[in-house]
Amino acid sequence: MFKKTYSFDDVLLVPQKSDIRSRSEIDIGSDLGDKRLDLPIISAPMDTVTESLMSKVLQDHGGLGIIHRYNTIEDQAALVREVGVSTGAAVGVSGDFEERACAVYDAGARVICIDVAHGHHTLVKRALKTLRATFGESIHIITGNVATLEAFNDLSDWGADSIRVGIGGGSICSTRIMTGHGVPTLQSVHDCAKSDRSAKLIADGGIKTSGDIVKALAAGADFVMLGSMLAGTDETPGELMRTTSGSTYKVYRGMASKEAQLDWRGEARSLEGVSTTVPGRGPVSNILKDLAQNIRSGLSYSGARNIRELQEKSKLIIQSGASQAESGTHIFNVRA
Ligand code: IMP
Repeated sequence: MFKKTYSFDDVLLVPQKSDIRSRSEIDIGSDLGDKRLDLPIISAPMDTVTESLMSKVLQDHGGLGIIHRYNTIEDQAALVREVGVSTGAAVGVSGDFEERACAVYDAGARVICIDVAHGHHTLVKRALKTLRATFGESIHIITGNVATLEAFNDLSDWGADSIRVGIGGGSICSTRIMTGHGVPTLQSVHDCAKSDRSAKLIADGGIKTSGDIVKALAAGADFVMLGSMLAGTDETPGELMRTTSGSTYKVYRGMASKEAQLDWRGEARSLEGVSTTVPGRGPVSNILKDLAQNIRSGLSYSGARNIRELQEKSKLIIQSGASQAESGTHIFNVRA
């Protein structure tokens, strides 16, 4: 009666024969329109993740930052100007979205992200048509979020160049609790990757380890979008706070959390996210370097020299509960 679905912790990749001698032979780059990203990582358009500092470091490492839209048009345009063409900007689907898109375009952004929670929506169709009519092919349009192949194909047919796939899986997301809706992110990626359309697939929400990134790419993603994995780093917006014992922390919050909504809208309605604090984690470049190395290692275990080969060669298996326990470090469970 019910379809069985799977997410990151339910699966493993089976190691495959390899003739790769060095990780330097492995290319983890992916094309976003006419732009090649050497690192398949895009930072989430959230006010505790991406402004110009994060976007610049991602650019330096070959990834992409999408500057959030929870500010004035002038502020967002100024942030985009600090980074230039190598940044993305997020806009909504109503209100000031056209004006905002023009301002970030004038500031240099050539990747524009229509950033809404439920992307399989006629308002997204309208926004896509409007942006395409205004900017033609001079911009790369990312939109979403979607959870099904039908939605992926519709957004692609409506003009999206890249699509964020994942509903309800974000670490700070309460959509599934509040509304009962969602699909495990890896399952959505696997389903949407069956599309015969040319739109790029961005796996988004619930990615918590480099292993999850490799699984998402193997299941068909061209890129991953990260929030929590980058949260707490020096380059995220927000104050670094200190406890009396000296440890540091920063706020990380869902954009539909009460706290975020009160700050940018002045009222909170339809809460679908939470706000929390995470430990201060230092420069994001250390994290990005580690991720790049681990993703390369992941490809080498599947005998793959690039993401396309990973998708062809990799074999995903479902693991049992006992296997899940074995897959985590478990030395601490040793009994006396
Ligand atoms: P994370 O990488 O698991 O932390 O998830 C980040 C993703 O969660 C973002 O890229 C968005 O797609 C999604 N997201 C951000 N804010 C909210 C929210 O308030 N509710 C639900 N999803 C959110």
